Amino acid sequence: MTTTRQWLIAGRPRGRPVEDSDFELVTKELPAPGPGQMLLKTHYLGFDPAQKGWMENIADYVAPTEIGEVMRGSGISEVIESHGGKFPVGTMVIGSTGWTEFHLSDGEGLVPCDPSLPPTAMMSVLGTTGLTAYCGLFKIGKPVAGDTVLVSGAAGATGSIVGQLAKLAGCRVIGIAGGPDKCAWLVDEAGYDAAIDYKAGGLKAAIKQHCPNGVDVIFDNVGGAILDDMLSQIATGARVVICGGISRYETGQMPAGPQNYFNLIFRRATMTGFIVLDWAAEFPLIRKRLAAFVQEGRLTYREDIQHGFENAPQAMQRLFSGANRGKQMLKL
Ligand code: NAP
Repeated sequence: MTTTRQWLIAGRPRGRPVEDSDFELVTKELPAPGPGQMLLKTHYLGFDPAQKGWMENIADYVAPTEIGEVMRGSGISEVIESHGGKFPVGTMVIGSTGWTEFHLSDGEGLVPCDPSLPPTAMMSVLGTTGLTAYCGLFKIGKPVAGDTVLVSGAAGATGSIVGQLAKLAGCRVIGIAGGPDKCAWLVDEAGYDAAIDYKAGGLKAAIKQHCPNGVDVIFDNVGGAILDDMLSQIATGARVVICGGISRYETGQMPAGPQNYFNLIFRRATMTGFIVLDWAAEFPLIRKRLAAFVQEGRLTYREDIQHGFENAPQAMQRLFSGANRGKQMLKL
């Protein structure tokens, strides 16, 4: 028997921020692994704004969540015991393991970490973050050299990779982020051509100033008023990539439609949402490509690693306050 702590879903944060009371910490005994099973120890948890949507049960691309189930989320774990399981003892794997210190698995849905990079890279630049950036930008945004690309949530885990990939594709890249330090990081470290601090006000005018010939590709992580301001400056034939809408999560209602959507008509533009899982078959190849960019020093990434399993709810809340600097993770 192995004793493990687990965080369970205890509330549905609909129309309000996530609160500590939405989670319950319990201790449970796990049986020894049965035939074909492995016992895994979680080393890192990864956090994504979508987890709040899963708790709210508003997303129909994943199975509904139940109150009392282990909180869903990705984890990097190590195989510490195997009873004829899929991976040998010592293998580091990533998967949707949930908020648990130990878990049993037959290996279904677990992917071994790329040994050429630190295991956390499997959650950040080679994880959903990097894959979302790659697929959203290249498959929906379809940038060509010389395009102007505008990214919201630009200093976040996904946004910072989007901008760098767009630079590799020969584009001019402008980021929108909250606060001067995030904006400085975008330009100094992530190679953005310019960054706009939306918290300073005057976003619409700043977009116009930085994108005088219009925006060819919008990569939107935020939605709401920021999306509306971005739509005001699209170029003819623009591609608007709807990746996420984090600004929705703290409000009591669904956001109003963008007032500037008529620009899609005037500019013959398209606005397309996507779910990265639709390209799962291509993930191994895309991971290899992203890993090569990192190894060649052409792609940088930030990881924000908090500590202590008991702090998982607070680590998740950092995404909504903007406290995270890069991919939000927790080291157990
Ligand atoms: P992240 O960008 O690292 O962190 C979230 C950031 O959002 C915060 O740091 C904060 O940055 C910003 N933010 C929070 N509240 C905001 C608000 N009210 N208005 C404007 N900005 C706000 O998170 P991530 O994991 O990389 O996720 C980014 C987006 O990608 C999310 O919307 C997520 O749901 C989406 N996503 C989509 C898919 C897909 O398949 N479509 C897959 C994965 C992720 P500031 O300090 O700059 O405000």
